[in-house]
Amino acid sequence: MDLLVAKFGGTSVGDGSRIKKAAQSVVNEYMKGNQIVVVVSAVNKSTDDLIGLSDEAVGEGLTDRQRAEIVAMGELTSARLFSAAVESLGVKSEYIDPYNDLWPVITDSDPLEAKIDFKSTDVKMQGIKTLLNQGIIPVICGFLGKGPRGEITTLGRGGSDVSAFLIGHCLDASEVVIVTDVEGVMSTDPNKIESAKLLDEITVEEMRDLATHGAQVLHPRALTYKDPVISAKIINFEHGDLSSKGTRIIGPHSDDVLKGVSLYKNPISLIAVVGEAMLKKSGLFAGLSGCLAKEKINIFGISAAQNSMSAFVDKADSNKAYHLLHQFVVETDVLSSLSLGSDTAMITFVSPDIIEKPGIISDITEPLRKNDINIVEIISSQTAIVLFVDWKDGEKARDLINEVLK
Ligand code: ADP
Ligand code: ASP
Ligand code: MG
Repeated sequence: MDLLVAKFGGTSVGDGSRIKKAAQSVVNEYMKGNQIVVVVSAVNKSTDDLIGLSDEAVGEGLTDRQRAEIVAMGELTSARLFSAAVESLGVKSEYIDPYNDLWPVITDSDPLEAKIDFKSTDVKMQGIKTLLNQGIIPVICGFLGKGPRGEITTLGRGGSDVSAFLIGHCLDASEVVIVTDVEGVMSTDPNKIESAKLLDEITVEEMRDLATHGAQVLHPRALTYKDPVISAKIINFEHGDLSSKGTRIIGPHSDDVLKGVSLYKNPISLIAVVGEAMLKKSGLFAGLSGCLAKEKINIFGISAAQNSMSAFVDKADSNKAYHLLHQFVVETDVLSSLSLGSDTAMITFVSPDIIEKPGIISDITEPLRKNDINIVEIISSQTAIVLFVDWKDGEKARDLINEVLK
């Protein structure tokens, strides 16, 4: 017997007939002998409507607490509707909202971007297991949490994806199915480029980066709770079938990929190319990477400034890369010279907090300053910060950054 968590997004429960269709798909799965937990979003755009209403009615005076209470009505309503639709098909169901004693998702007190208290949530999930063992289909409000004083909190816009993966994790589910309004994860947003292609599968690492960079199809924090042993997929509601193929999300492939610090095993060499006003000339990046690619030299990073750009390569390749890039510089009129730097250690810090935590760069660089470790280069994106320090300082720098994470 499999245990499935199925999350229905706003469009998938967008009107009465869709709710009916969704409930039927859940019941079909149940009839196959599986256990199933439903996580629902608010109907269609009702979260936006509730936000719009409260802005109009109250405006700036609205407190975050009031806002959370009001937007919660979206999921409070859809869970009741969905559960009633399941019962109408002859299977026992209970809606679970934060006012219910069995409510499992426990958070801090932040009304609009609540942080999950994983341990308490994990313990509370026992109640949901009991319901499942009684043959009941629990329909849980996505997006909502319960704070320390029993108050309603919300997990941030799009947060019902987080609810689904969190619940799947705590219940040791066999599969998390995200039901949405597209066929699955595509090569890009199909509402922006029509010819976007469906992907059969995507790794947790890729999906997380895609989501962090704005692809709405899954909330970036949802995958924090994706266990390698839990299957996960994104499918289209139109099929009315939870066994549709869609896009499978696989991995993660190692424990520390979503959050952690790693030190690359070999020294990395920085080769800096200089030239005046080089940023005004197009095609330089392509030229630089192209001449290294011809010799199959892997580039670990590239950084650019007003008058220089640096390529980071494994020390084993540095001599060859140096000669190839010298040739490139000589042949390119806006470039004048290049230099091969000393050996550096590459430390990669990956965390979903990077995008939303102000001061995170100073948090990790401050201990290095205190220990007199010089940062040779730093490259940062929305999901990773890569630091280059003298090779001899590599291990110490990694350990210091690890301390910050604790
Ligand atoms: P739901 O209400 O089911 O949670 P969302 O609107 O949050 O659905 O997410 C689905 C939307 O994500 C799609 O309608 C699509 O516009 C958008 N999207 C962005 N990037 C992608 C992508 N690479 N693949 C598929 N959908 C994408
Ligand atoms: N209903 C909430 C929102 O629109 C949560 C979600 O749909 O995931 O943001
Ligand atoms: Mg969504």
